[in-house]
Amino acid sequence: MESQKRNNAQGEIKTFQNALFIDKEAVFALLLCQEGLLAPVSHLMNEEEMQEVDATGLYRGQSFPFSFVLAPSGKRNAIVLQNAQEGSVITLVCEGNICGELIVDSVFTIDKQQRLFKIMSGDIYSQKAQDIYKRLGNYAVCGKYSLFLNNEQFTFMHHVSKQAILQTKKNIQANNVTAMVLDASPATRIHERIFRFALDESDLLVLLLLRHQNEGLLDFHIRKTCLQFIIENYLPTNRILIFPLDDIYLFAGTHGIILDAILTQNLGCDRIVIGENYPNLTIYYDNQKIYSIFDTIKDIKINVKLVNEFVYCSQCNTIVSLKTCPHGNHHHIHYHSGFLQGILQAGLIPPTILMRKEVSAKILSYLYPKRFSPLLKQFGTMFANNGMIEEQDDEDFYLKLIDLYQTHSLK
Ligand SMILES: [Zn+2]
Repeated sequence: MESQKRNNAQGEIKTFQNALFIDKEAVFALLLCQEGLLAPVSHLMNEEEMQEVDATGLYRGQSFPFSFVLAPSGKRNAIVLQNAQEGSVITLVCEGNICGELIVDSVFTIDKQQRLFKIMSGDIYSQKAQDIYKRLGNYAVCGKYSLFLNNEQFTFMHHVSKQAILQTKKNIQANNVTAMVLDASPATRIHERIFRFALDESDLLVLLLLRHQNEGLLDFHIRKTCLQFIIENYLPTNRILIFPLDDIYLFAGTHGIILDAILTQNLGCDRIVIGENYPNLTIYYDNQKIYSIFDTIKDIKINVKLVNEFVYCSQCNTIVSLKTCPHGNHHHIHYHSGFLQGILQAGLIPPTILMRKEVSAKILSYLYPKRFSPLLKQFGTMFANNGMIEEQDDEDFYLKLIDLYQTHSLK
């Protein structure tokens, strides 16, 4: 059965003539460029442009962290590229489906080590860097391309829409738009605090929620569901938009943050908030490093707003910024997503000062589906509202349990 499947798949692939096999991340990068979100870069770079950008960090006078080239790995791809002639048409294939075509302008070799070094800002020994290295080929191709993403195989490409942002901007007559790239794994009260802070200072907030090729404990869908819940119940719904942003390898290194700034500027945002859950946490905790990156960029006009770290202070009895609380570290509870994930993974309810109970209930019933079915069947009436017996699910069960935990006995 398994070998038959493989044979079929090979049979299909053989029918593609002169094809380049690229992965989803490459398709997404090509799409970002095609939609003008990497401007001033509007096409795949040729050898000369690649060398210039990699040497100077500038493209047409504007900072661009590294060259934008298409150099997929694989023996078959190498053969196709070696034999490609100027003007010939190459079919682009992703996961067995045609996703576009490219008219060859030129093919040139790249220095894989150097490219990895550029993308990872020198951090080339991490697992992430090794994964990226495996995906780089020795040959890059440039030329005009077009993408055909109507096929339902490519629904994952529904992503950041500049049009939707402009439309909302018009509808609510927004002057200032703030963007924030986040993981929200999980969404905490700190995120909420940062959203409010951003909305105080601008009219519209665009949340770019990262979507990973390999999702961790909390997948994109549950992370988005929780964010949506918070927005719909506790924030001005018409002033916040959520878009998936595929976490492609171009964003992996320290300089990925410059690419975030370029992308959000091209989306019509005038400010970017670098928040607590920025994927590369080490950057966040070293503000000096971020400042130094943004100090050196040229012609990127977006305003970068760094948010100080927030903690729960047991003396202040509320969420405070480290900058404004006079109490010592031993009074502070930090919001580390790894810590919260650990609690959730153990099946426990995180403290409600860190996360809203509704968010915890959603996540726990996602991680442990139907965990309490037998208990609900037997003792469901214990948790019934107004003495009425109603259909209850795990999510309700958690919420009622949390309420009970918070109920103090009479003294
Ligand atoms: Zn304090």
